[in-house]
Amino acid sequence: MKQLDETGYMSNRGRQLIASCFVHELGLDWRYGAAYFEQQLIDYDVAANWGNWQYLAGVGSDPRGHRWFDLAKQTAMYDPQEEFIRRWQGNTFDAQLDHIDAADWPIG
Ligand SMILES: Cc1cc2nc3c(=O)[nH]c(=O)nc-3n(C[C@H](O)[C@H](O)[C@H](O)COP(=O)(O)OP(=O)(O)OC[C@H]3O[C@@H](n4cnc5c(N)ncnc54)[C@H](O)[C@@H]3O)c2cc1C
Repeated sequence: MKQLDETGYMSNRGRQLIASCFVHELGLDWRYGAAYFEQQLIDYDVAANWGNWQYLAGVGSDPRGHRWFDLAKQTAMYDPQEEFIRRWQGNTFDAQLDHIDAADWPIG
């Protein structure tokens, strides 16, 4: 999310992991996540953004249903040395989940 906020961009893998975490781990309404992406993405496209969020939330036409990604497994597969995590200080977030207001998500 720090990469998205700073650059307006995020890889497709990152977008999928964020959406999965947002919906399936934080239990938040996918439409807030899609709206935040709409606000931040430099390549924002209505169909690609909202369609992918629907797909990750399991409310679109994807017959595979809910798409949940195991973040530890994804880290092992795609960032085994945790270079990306260190680059974007992904391991320094220390606020409590109950400090997050979905309307303002994420807090910087
Ligand atoms: C939650 C979520 C939101 C997204 N929102 C947007 C958006 O607002 N605008 C946008 O252009 N793309 C969006 N995407 C799709 C994809 O993440 C980006 O297009 C991709 O990151 C662009 O990377 P690239 O240029 O290296 O293309 P590559 O990854 O090399 O892909 C090649 C082409 O395929 C398209 N593409 C790749 N993956 C997808 C995908 N999952 N769905 C649709 N098209 C894809 C790319 O636009 C590009 O034209 C979103 C994906 C997710 C999971």
